[in-house]
Amino acid sequence: MPRKILIVEDNANNRRLFSDILTFHDYEVSEAIDGQDGVDQARKLMPDLILMDIQMPGMDGLTAGSILKGDPATACLKIIALTSFAMQGDREKFLEAGFDGYLSKPINTRELPEQIKQWMDGGEAILNRVEMA
Ligand code: MN
Repeated sequence: MPRKILIVEDNANNRRLFSDILTFHDYEVSEAIDGQDGVDQARKLMPDLILMDIQMPGMDGLTAGSILKGDPATACLKIIALTSFAMQGDREKFLEAGFDGYLSKPINTRELPEQIKQWMDGGEAILNRVEMA
């Protein structure tokens, strides 16, 4: 059974990029367009991994991630923060919110699949950052 990834990202181009790469690597990909949509879909789908953009209109990713991590029903979900280059110093905030890792945008599209696989396999690849291409 293909493993499920939920992409929560307000930027349509980024959603498409992640979706294309991960679909190509045989993941079952779902998309949400903001934090609230992400929380709703995560509860419904219970994906194996969530890629959570931080800066989104409406409910931001930090809030959405905190809600999921604070709810016993969804606390087990793995959540990776998608941050812009300028937010790299905010690592502690993601840790506090319970995020399992983070990726800096723009992402390295060649390294993404391996990074995703490491997180999926639940190794100790916690808070790895993919370097910019
Ligand atoms: Mn955004």
